[in-house]
Amino acid sequence: MSIVAIVGRPNVGKSTLFNRLIQRREAIVDSVSGVTRDRHYGKTDWNGKEFSIIDTGGYVKGSDDVFEEQIDKQVELAIDEADAIIFMVDVEAGVTGMDEDVANLLRRQNKPVFLVVNKVDNAMREENAVEFYSLGLGDYYTIAGISGSGTGDLLDALVEVL
Ligand code: GDP
Ligand code: MG
Repeated sequence: MSIVAIVGRPNVGKSTLFNRLIQRREAIVDSVSGVTRDRHYGKTDWNGKEFSIIDTGGYVKGSDDVFEEQIDKQVELAIDEADAIIFMVDVEAGVTGMDEDVANLLRRQNKPVFLVVNKVDNAMREENAVEFYSLGLGDYYTIAGISGSGTGDLLDALVEVL
């Protein structure tokens, strides 16, 4: 079964989307210690195609360097094990240094990457999302994970590459 990983810095809304996608389905909590501790695995399907989804997280706040290192590690794991990657950013916060760091890692590999601008709750935020072109990953999907708005178009495109 194909695997999709959701990566991005803390607080962008990864778990909110993950929970929406696996609604009423079983989430398998990985028991491996360390950075992988809070990787949550779930199953979902769209347009008749079933796939596994990984919610990455488990960041421990320390110095900025430690934080950055943990995010990089999650991205490296995702690049290794996933067939497609959802890279989530947050329009409320705008482009951050951590987003740029993740984008740099993702640009150096060949897995399909879906840049997803989350928290697009209104038309003004839709306009603000253009700043994410600066990440150099091309076009993006705008969603509001909290309401599910925009997620249909994202999933349509996602299952095409699985
Ligand atoms: P994670 O750290 O990336 O897993 O982020 P979470 O899923 O835990 O969400 C972080 C915060 O963003 C929570 O307070 C969510 O309720 C909020 N959030 C998630 N999606 C949206 C959205 O579409 N719109 C808004 N306004 N807030 C959201
Ligand atoms: Mg989370």
